[in-house]
Amino acid sequence: MRRLWFLLILFSLACRALSPLAMPAEAPVATAIPSREASPTAEITGDSAEPGAESFGYSVRAHPDGGLYVGDRVSFEVIAPPSAEAREVSVRLKLGYGETQELGSARFSPFGILGRLQATLTWVWDTRFLEPGEYTVFFTLHPQNLTWEERFTLLPASQLVSWEARSAWASARSECCTVFYLTGTEAERDLPALLETIDLQAEQASRNMGVQITEPITITLLPRLLGHGGFADQDIHVSYLDRNYTIGDLGMILHHEIIHVLDARQGGDLRPSLLVEGLAVYLTGGHYQPEPLLPRAAALLSFPGWFIPLEELAMNFYTSQHEIGYLEGGALVAFMVQRWGLPAFMDFYRDIHPHPSGSIARALDQALKSHFGMSLAALEAEFLQELKRQIVPSDVAENLRLTIALYDTARYYQQLLDPSAYFLTPWLVDTREMRRLEITADYLRRPEEPANLAIETMLAQASAALKDNRFVEAERLLKAVETVLQAMEQGVPHPFSQDALAADYFDIVTVLKSSRVLTSPLSSNPLQPQIIKVEGDQAVVYYRTAEPTLATARLVRGRNGWRWSWSWEQGN
Ligand SMILES: [Zn+2]
Repeated sequence: MRRLWFLLILFSLACRALSPLAMPAEAPVATAIPSREASPTAEITGDSAEPGAESFGYSVRAHPDGGLYVGDRVSFEVIAPPSAEAREVSVRLKLGYGETQELGSARFSPFGILGRLQATLTWVWDTRFLEPGEYTVFFTLHPQNLTWEERFTLLPASQLVSWEARSAWASARSECCTVFYLTGTEAERDLPALLETIDLQAEQASRNMGVQITEPITITLLPRLLGHGGFADQDIHVSYLDRNYTIGDLGMILHHEIIHVLDARQGGDLRPSLLVEGLAVYLTGGHYQPEPLLPRAAALLSFPGWFIPLEELAMNFYTSQHEIGYLEGGALVAFMVQRWGLPAFMDFYRDIHPHPSGSIARALDQALKSHFGMSLAALEAEFLQELKRQIVPSDVAENLRLTIALYDTARYYQQLLDPSAYFLTPWLVDTREMRRLEITADYLRRPEEPANLAIETMLAQASAALKDNRFVEAERLLKAVETVLQAMEQGVPHPFSQDALAADYFDIVTVLKSSRVLTSPLSSNPLQPQIIKVEGDQAVVYYRTAEPTLATARLVRGRNGWRWSWSWEQGN
């Protein structure tokens, strides 16, 4: 049900003139980021007289992202310096001076696909019965007995966005799957269509894999983008949101992740990541979009140094260039199926065993010899010959080049301004436990500073342009984002002023930030832009109302910067 007051906007500061260089909210972002690996966690004030984590080479991240509010169950990541040999070290957290409260302790261990060494303390600080204000947490490393402190600000729960405060876990059952989502999100809005898509993809994946779905698959729809939009272990997590800045087709991501679940249920002694991902890409018919795998992989050969030798890729799959690795894996499986047939490929794939040396490449080599009488090197030579025979349409090569640029830029953004989303170390918690404890903020809340909104809407536009093969527009937007991120990394003041298009996006986001959407006669939410299209001196903005539906606004560039033109039309 839609109510009229959702559509009203308060023009509190909306007509304030902004020149392209007047960007007061930007400076803290620019100065807080010393390097790509840094953690620009805004909650840490770090201005204590005591030495902070950085002075010992450690860094601390608090979750949820995007500000801490009374009611949160706060988690901490204590990240060890790259040089640390901290496996035998633990950290203990205490809250406050005098009458201290133990928050917990944890040993350092590898985290994420990257295996970053860190101590992870999940939901250790329960703030439900605390007053808003500033709190100090003491971190002590054992056995060195080194202590530092960090300060965190708890904001009043009344300042939370109204729909976020009301959101709760809900579930739905489809033919194949049990689907969990958060109320008040885009997933709830589009649930009937999503359930249909999920069933369709599960049926196709089951048929393509030749495996029945005998027990339901659990799928969680996330309201924020994590990694590239999909993860699978025994359960599946898929991002579903309006401000999605990647080109991943939802049906393809679901199909890909369902293949992983069915594949894992079939087992196998050693399944190399190159073939696990290659099989999912091959059976899905592409990585993010439907793609002609062999011609697209052949396009890699026209860019010197892009083709990754198979031995190297097998050994370092997830740390190799992501899109190239997946494309080569998918094309390699396509080639092997073309050469020997799917049943023979599957027999080989399920019959790979660890090599005494521990080398995945040698394990692959051994299984190839016993099934096909061919070494890994010989397979690569034949695969390359096949790629050289392909005819590569020019738009396939250009699409590939810009797809890689888009995802490289998106990962660069995540590492700098949304590190919890970076795919090698994502903040992906135990979702089953999260539901049991009725925790929602770890997935609902995310960094939404003007810099985040400006870059995400630029990347989203670049994705939309790339999907339409509008290459010049996509490249222009990606260049703008890259220029800003590089300026941030170098500590340049006003990084958005380094590119005219980026400055437009930042100014528009700043104008929007000063406006609010009425969500009831008594309360309002900050306006959340989902899509921004800049066309010369005009901009069209789609923003979230309370429900969440999208409303449209138009802004125009005046002599003193961007200002509202109108904002009454409702629709998608
Ligand atoms: Zn995958």
